Amino acid sequence: MHYQLSGKLTDRDAKQHILHAFTVPVGATELRLRFDYTPERVASGLNALHLSLFDSHGFRGAGHRRGDVHEGVVSHIIELNDVRATPGYMVGALPPGEWSVVIDTHMILPDVPVTYQLAVDVSSDPLGVIPAVPAEPAVPIPQRGPGWYRGDLHGHTVHSDASWDIADLLAHARNHRLDFVTLSDHNTVSGLVEFDRLARPELLTMGGIELTTYAGHALALGIRRWIDWRVRSGTRSMPQIAAEVEAAGGLFIIAHPMSVGDPICTGCDWRYRDMLPGPARCVEVWNGGEWEGESNNEDALALWYVWLNQGQRVVATAGTDIHGPLPPGARPGFNVVYAESFSEAAILRAITQGHLYLSNGPQIEVHGRTEEGVSAGMGDSLPSGRTTITACWEGCTSTDRVRLIADGELLREQEAGERGEQHWQLAAGEAAWCVLELRDATGRLRAVTNPLSWLV
Ligand SMILES: [Zn+2]
Ligand SMILES: [Zn+2]
Repeated sequence: MHYQLSGKLTDRDAKQHILHAFTVPVGATELRLRFDYTPERVASGLNALHLSLFDSHGFRGAGHRRGDVHEGVVSHIIELNDVRATPGYMVGALPPGEWSVVIDTHMILPDVPVTYQLAVDVSSDPLGVIPAVPAEPAVPIPQRGPGWYRGDLHGHTVHSDASWDIADLLAHARNHRLDFVTLSDHNTVSGLVEFDRLARPELLTMGGIELTTYAGHALALGIRRWIDWRVRSGTRSMPQIAAEVEAAGGLFIIAHPMSVGDPICTGCDWRYRDMLPGPARCVEVWNGGEWEGESNNEDALALWYVWLNQGQRVVATAGTDIHGPLPPGARPGFNVVYAESFSEAAILRAITQGHLYLSNGPQIEVHGRTEEGVSAGMGDSLPSGRTTITACWEGCTSTDRVRLIADGELLREQEAGERGEQHWQLAAGEAAWCVLELRDATGRLRAVTNPLSWLV
């Protein structure tokens, strides 16, 4: 079976999903699809057209990446059979029936139309002998009790647009002595089987997908199936998608909400007015390998403080959003989570409860104790009343500064030294919530806790 067509798109076709259906006959063993478009770029930036593939049963993979570029033509090739698949797509038999390939037009810039060719070949030749990857038995994760676990909640591989593969991401996590690492490729879950297979007793793998929409990105963590990320006015809203993630036992996190957007980073800034934060319970305030950069983390932190002042119970998270080796000397922020046990479910539950701080190295903690003797820590609430705040920190440099932020305002500040402990008295009603920040001599964030709050 051979299927071929061409088309032309203008900027009016941007942010659409253009479907082309084709029929896979009974007995098909191999599919090869080639998609070419041009121009790759115009004066104002890069065009970005990516593919999603659906077989007669449902999602079959996505190729959220630029593809090969030759003389201004972008080429994306999919090869698929029951033992191999192009990264981003799912290995498996080819069920007969109607399939579809969807062109997701993340960006078509004005002035110059985009032309494309799509060719699909389905063959029924018996497959030659293709050496299958030997299955390694999954290693059971040992029982570990309550404690602090450090890890990353955002990472990519060649299954979407990263430069490295799954083994590299895991090696990177081991080099940073992480307890857990998350794979959240753009709009696909094809890497998760291998990722979980390579889990080791000291390194927990967490499933996920980055819902990479045209008006913002969100992480769906603890998820191992595709979530339809395509927001469609009137039929599928972002709050509905968030509810679907939660109903599937996953954790929904608004990713890098204040990132630069089109055309520099297509769809990267969060523009869902019904989710500011709406039903979202987590927001990634620290994105990327550095505090400063195109993710505008300082603005994301300020946005989170505004939401806390509105009485929203939103948890802050960090994610390296790593796509390949970090530059030397990079100090990414990680999540340090107090979980009841060393499991994906327990870590995600602890995050939902706000039992974590974000840090590029130092350890920090904040507790409160009322005059009546009621105690609470990060993510928890105290009854209203005069409270002693206890802050502890360790692993700092002598020029770092500790800051107590209450209701978004700086309330106390002092030099950190390498380690320290401080007690501050807060009058009844003086604050609705507080967090501890640690910043370096230039003001860059080194660590921040989730809030301790007071019941009103
Ligand atoms: Zn993103
Ligand atoms: Zn990402």
